[in-house]
Amino acid sequence: MCEVLSAICTSPIGRLTISYCLQGLHSISQISTINDRSFLPHANQSIEYELPCDIDDPILDSCREWLDDYFHAGVHPIKTPKLCPTVIMKGNSFQENVWYTLLKRVPFGHVITYGELAKLAGNTGAARAVGTAMRRNPFQLIVPCHRVICSNGKKGNYAGGERNSVKVWLLKHEQIENCK
Ligand SMILES: [Zn+2]
Repeated sequence: MCEVLSAICTSPIGRLTISYCLQGLHSISQISTINDRSFLPHANQSIEYELPCDIDDPILDSCREWLDDYFHAGVHPIKTPKLCPTVIMKGNSFQENVWYTLLKRVPFGHVITYGELAKLAGNTGAARAVGTAMRRNPFQLIVPCHRVICSNGKKGNYAGGERNSVKVWLLKHEQIENCK
């Protein structure tokens, strides 16, 4: 059993809640009050933890570094923070394979369709199941569900349709302009 702790940090897309154990991250997501009506991005906002939390924790530190690279260095972050294997493990389920494939195969500045991702994760035709996996993604940004778009070129939903403006912002941040 993991002892799960949590922390909150600031970011350009608002505050992020991070939960983690000794083995790695359990989740990362925008705080629950952020939606299309309240979303107010600040491109220059730095990544800082709000106290109290253990800022010397290596998992939190690697997460901060990753977020800083993602938002401010304009590069694809190279070192993915450790993810707890109780949450994501290759081969464990189709859903976890989808997350894992997206993490490993769809880099900064690229997009993939729901159908293509289904195929890449080993189940051609499971585009709908991919949609479900995206809604349940525990690792916002790190498992880049914002890079998954519709086959007709439309951006599609984010967070079940509650945060579509966040998806638009993230794709623009990655200079992806070639989808509607
Ligand atoms: Zn854990």
